[in-house]
Amino acid sequence: MGVRAIISSVFAALSLVVTVSADAQQVPEIPVPNLGDIAVASLGPQGPVIYYDPYVCQMAGPACEFFRAHEYGHVVLGHLQNQYMMYTPEGRAMAEAQADCFGAQNSSPLAVQTVIQGILHQPPDPKDAIYGSKQARAQRIASCAGM
Ligand SMILES: [Zn+2]
Repeated sequence: MGVRAIISSVFAALSLVVTVSADAQQVPEIPVPNLGDIAVASLGPQGPVIYYDPYVCQMAGPACEFFRAHEYGHVVLGHLQNQYMMYTPEGRAMAEAQADCFGAQNSSPLAVQTVIQGILHQPPDPKDAIYGSKQARAQRIASCAGM
């Protein structure tokens, strides 16, 4: 099932409890230079929004598709409305793992391969506490993509 189909079915369910705009299956994607991250999903007054840094995305090449899909994962899996997933270390780690898996399953093989190579070439950093080590994250993404 494609991202749009999943989003469509999730919003069909959500529309019972959440007021959403007429074109609910469209999550706005807004370019924000100097965002500080390649992409971020956020819950705005009109519903979920995905912000992305157009320059970082351009530099990431095919991997950008994965990161957009990862953010859609946060949206369609309900993480943005989930206090545990948003604000506890355990929940955030679970949310990032689920979004990575969603991204891997909703991106092209080229995007997945590019992001795996990119992750494996990065040095360890403090975010690893949430995302897992580079090796563990790369293996998780590959596994979710069936590679
Ligand atoms: Zn994420």
